[in-house]
Amino acid sequence: MTVTTRFAPSPTGRLHVGNIRTALHNWMLARKAGGRFLLRIDDTDAERSREEYVDAIRADLAWLGLDPDGEERQSARLDRYETAFERLRAAGRVYRCYETAQELDLKRKVLLGRGLPPVYDRAALALTEDDHAAKATAGVAPHWRFKLDHDEPIAWDDGIRGAQKFDPAQLSDPVIRRADGSWLYMLPSAVDDLDMGVTDVLRGEDHVSNTAVQIQMFSALIAAGDGGAMPRFAHEALLVGSEGKLSKRLGSLGCDAFRERGIEPEALVALLARIGTSLPVEPIADRSVLVASVDLATFGRAPARFDEAELERINTAIVHQLDYAVVADRLPQGMDAAGWHAVQPNLATVGDAAEWWRLVTGPIAQPAFSDEDRAYLAEAARLLEWREDPWHALTAALKQATGRKGKALFLPLRQALTGMDHGPDMAELLPLIGEVEARARLERAAKG
Ligand code: GLU
Repeated sequence: MTVTTRFAPSPTGRLHVGNIRTALHNWMLARKAGGRFLLRIDDTDAERSREEYVDAIRADLAWLGLDPDGEERQSARLDRYETAFERLRAAGRVYRCYETAQELDLKRKVLLGRGLPPVYDRAALALTEDDHAAKATAGVAPHWRFKLDHDEPIAWDDGIRGAQKFDPAQLSDPVIRRADGSWLYMLPSAVDDLDMGVTDVLRGEDHVSNTAVQIQMFSALIAAGDGGAMPRFAHEALLVGSEGKLSKRLGSLGCDAFRERGIEPEALVALLARIGTSLPVEPIADRSVLVASVDLATFGRAPARFDEAELERINTAIVHQLDYAVVADRLPQGMDAAGWHAVQPNLATVGDAAEWWRLVTGPIAQPAFSDEDRAYLAEAARLLEWREDPWHALTAALKQATGRKGKALFLPLRQALTGMDHGPDMAELLPLIGEVEARARLERAAKG
């Protein structure tokens, strides 16, 4: 079977760093195995799903470089869920219920008050056909629950958590369909995973108990002749902020926010690929390296810490590795490969290039110089010769002519030529400034 993973967001909001991480890991697992990575839009909730979010999810994945091999939409598969539902109904695995949210809430409170797990009591299973008919006459439509088989223990070997066991009697029969006929996430997801040949379901550990009930759904669907095979499951530990807590901030951090801060997708990918695993977090810009090293066996059970300061450090290190061709369309006008090369080591973000580039294009504001420095800069203007490596030629000539060295030799030149005390390597910058402009700047500084 071709390894097939999927990322299944509900288009009810933008992607945040937590689900970006899940998408990334699914993408990496598929790429490593030479398999398929599917994007599945979980849009059965027509009221909360928005087309703009579907577009945003696609755009975010494209920005991250997580190219799906196929896209599916649950809203286009409603007939399919109906068929699967009818099979389960024929097999006696779904049943009608009428409790209101308030009634269910009360039942839960009573159980919790007695120190018992808040498991649905299956009261609706005792209803007779007459009871159902009475509800229908009264215009009350049922919602539907999937009937867990209490005699079938639930167990799986989780790719991250190891052996997992659940007693079905300790779980509520999940509601799979609302009274208005619409679907909750559980059944469509299982139907899709079977239909789409999903071999590996990797998602957050908040889905562990969903997996427990879905495993029985998979079995029931397969037994009812629905085809397909049960996927493997793995649940990754949740993402927490640097302070070690689940933070609201993480829920609002998405691709736009990162892009605006000058974070490169490669930096986000390098960090998210490895936090929470036993592999070192490194500024790896080459995705194939990350893909080759992904291994669920390295994923830990402890929450993965997402530290924004670490992201910035990785980003800077990645920016220092980026080729001109990759960033060319984001650079200021006129900045060529030599310009990029000159400023690159000084950048925290690609966007900073514009600021450094102004040192080349001008105008620059020079500081006030002492008389002595002005004489020195006048000498520099005279000695400036335009040839291969003009900076080293100039400083060598000045050293000889004036006896200056170190800071006294270099700093007034840098200040006169760029208006700054620090910055990119002058040997790279000077040829970019050009002879005419360089001489003009030196002369202007000499005049004071
Ligand atoms: N739409 C579900 C979610 O976003 C999908 C979960 C899954 O099966 O991966 O939580």
